[in-house]
Amino acid sequence: MKALAFRLLHQSGCVRLFRFLYQRRRVTILLFHDPSPTAMEMALRYLTRFYRIISLQTYLEARSAGTTDRLPEYSLILTFDDGHRGNYALLPLFEKYGVPATIFLCSAIVDTYRHFWFLDADGVLPVERLKALPNTERLECLGGIQFAEEKEYPTRQALSAREIQRMRPLIDFQSHTRFHSILTTCARARVRASLQGAKERLERDFGLSINALAYPNGDYDTRTVEETRTAGYRCGLTVDHGFNDDDTDLFLLRRLDVNDTEDVHELAVKASGLWQHLKSMHLP
Ligand SMILES: [Zn+2]
Repeated sequence: MKALAFRLLHQSGCVRLFRFLYQRRRVTILLFHDPSPTAMEMALRYLTRFYRIISLQTYLEARSAGTTDRLPEYSLILTFDDGHRGNYALLPLFEKYGVPATIFLCSAIVDTYRHFWFLDADGVLPVERLKALPNTERLECLGGIQFAEEKEYPTRQALSAREIQRMRPLIDFQSHTRFHSILTTCARARVRASLQGAKERLERDFGLSINALAYPNGDYDTRTVEETRTAGYRCGLTVDHGFNDDDTDLFLLRRLDVNDTEDVHELAVKASGLWQHLKSMHLP
């Protein structure tokens, strides 16, 4: 049913209209997580046709120099949250299309055999309910399924240091906190440790230069933004839908989640912001 809706919306001309009205002079940031190489190849073929892919760093430089008017029309930034191991298989595609991307890493999970809590809980405990719990209660609940943040498992879920180094010439790596705690549910000390600790480890152990944070689950509040700034980040990325212009707060950058889809119609409708717009109007 949804597939049909995506096809009809894509073919209706609304996507083209949204692109022209909202995306021509603003910067669009897309959010992926762990797309298959098939999904990514389709996405890059489509996106490079209708958008100009720029790096997050190019955008940040333009914002601080006040030269965003010199960015290409239909500028679009590719971002990937969590640092999933599967992202490494996308490197040949980034090379083939010659496009930059930013991957947000959980600093205490990359290059270890620790697991992402939301992947291990999935199917056992309702992830959406866990996200809403105070952080200490969430960890207690996860303890009930023998999950622990620092436990090492037989399988690796996140990128390794070697994979990160191989991707570095083309890929910008930034911070997604240490363990992917939902920052709005944590005590201030834990927020601070999550933000500062991630930046420090990624810079010290991986030789990266960290200036951007993707808020886990896109969740933020005034305190989160304050601590992000204090920890030395230059920007924060949400999953609030919409586009970015000179008036967009750098700590509240907007992103469109494209759901790692393999369906070109779904991608077109979501990358244009049309789907998120319709959903916020409470249409079916
Ligand atoms: Zn995440």
